[in-house]
Amino acid sequence: MKRKSLLKEDRFRKTKKMKKKSKKTTSTNHVADKKSGLSLISTLGLFGSHETQVSVHGEVDLHKHVKDCQKNPGHKKFIPVESFHLNSLPRCFRDSLLYQLIKVTCDLAVRVEVKWTSPRRVEFWPESQQPYPFYNSQTTSASRFGSGALINVIKRQNGIGSDIYGQIYDLETRRCPCQKCQESDNPSRIWWEFIIFTATHVVFDEYEAEHTVCRLFYDSNTSKGFILDQASMYRSSIGEDTCDLSFVFCDKQDLGIKMFQMMTTWSILWQKVEEKFHRSRLAFIVSHPHGCAKQVSFGQWVKSYEWESYNRDLDLTKLTYTTSTCPGSSGAAVYCVGFNEIVHSGMLNSKLNVSGIGFSYLKSRNFSLSRRIRT
Ligand SMILES: [Zn+2]
Ligand SMILES: [Zn+2]
Repeated sequence: MKRKSLLKEDRFRKTKKMKKKSKKTTSTNHVADKKSGLSLISTLGLFGSHETQVSVHGEVDLHKHVKDCQKNPGHKKFIPVESFHLNSLPRCFRDSLLYQLIKVTCDLAVRVEVKWTSPRRVEFWPESQQPYPFYNSQTTSASRFGSGALINVIKRQNGIGSDIYGQIYDLETRRCPCQKCQESDNPSRIWWEFIIFTATHVVFDEYEAEHTVCRLFYDSNTSKGFILDQASMYRSSIGEDTCDLSFVFCDKQDLGIKMFQMMTTWSILWQKVEEKFHRSRLAFIVSHPHGCAKQVSFGQWVKSYEWESYNRDLDLTKLTYTTSTCPGSSGAAVYCVGFNEIVHSGMLNSKLNVSGIGFSYLKSRNFSLSRRIRT
């Protein structure tokens, strides 16, 4: 199945949408209303406080932020990816397919560092009076750290591209558009594009994308990993709080091949796990708390708030969940095993965590609380 965030395209730039809704059932776990989705979300106070890690001295101070953490002192509910094994899974989810999926998911997670703040950040979240993160903060020189995930790899060759889902892209240019090739008389004719998903409040617009660096394979304090820079904004929506960044390069062919294969494996495993756990409430996150090495956390999704009925099977929803996060986790993908992944947006006053807006299959699954599996 193609990841939904890539199917959405420009239609979600609209932040205001009143649509005739079909008749819905409102249950304790799925909340709908006649108001426009964003008004409802605003009324319910579902724009959480963001979980971006601000660090005045950049990388140098990050370990100090771990030590001083107020939200999860000791970080006992986080599992470092290096020590993650089958028994790290909640007892009733110790399944080898799920374990393999999470291992691959760990390799797709990235740390996001944004070095500059856009002057175009908005003052409030759409249709709300709730302050938007980092509005008017462009004068501060602090770096902001968040998380993200690789969601597609596109191989470009002589102007024709193909992604991991088999989609073909015909391009105007036959030469690699990276900065090095633009200045070269002999530009590469094969290049790669990585699409990375994160939150819009982490990377707001093209200006911030240009000043964003992602780090792949930052698995431990000693991991060097891979640095991706020179991003551009592929898609973004303030209301949904999701954006996709594009990174183009031609100088790491092995990395391109490796991640193409890894994403293909992820997609196959996700489908199998989705079928096996289609009624589960398990929600796991792979993120970079405080901008430090990658960690896995487990919990449950709690409630689904509908923004829009998309079609017979799909809703656009915002979720709350118990999965542990810290500053630095903003933008990470929340993997709701069995129905979809959604972006981590922040924390509510109730201490529950809250997502951005994304697709869910809850409607087609006819989900009922009585069938839930506890973690
Ligand atoms: Zn913490
Ligand atoms: Zn190039």
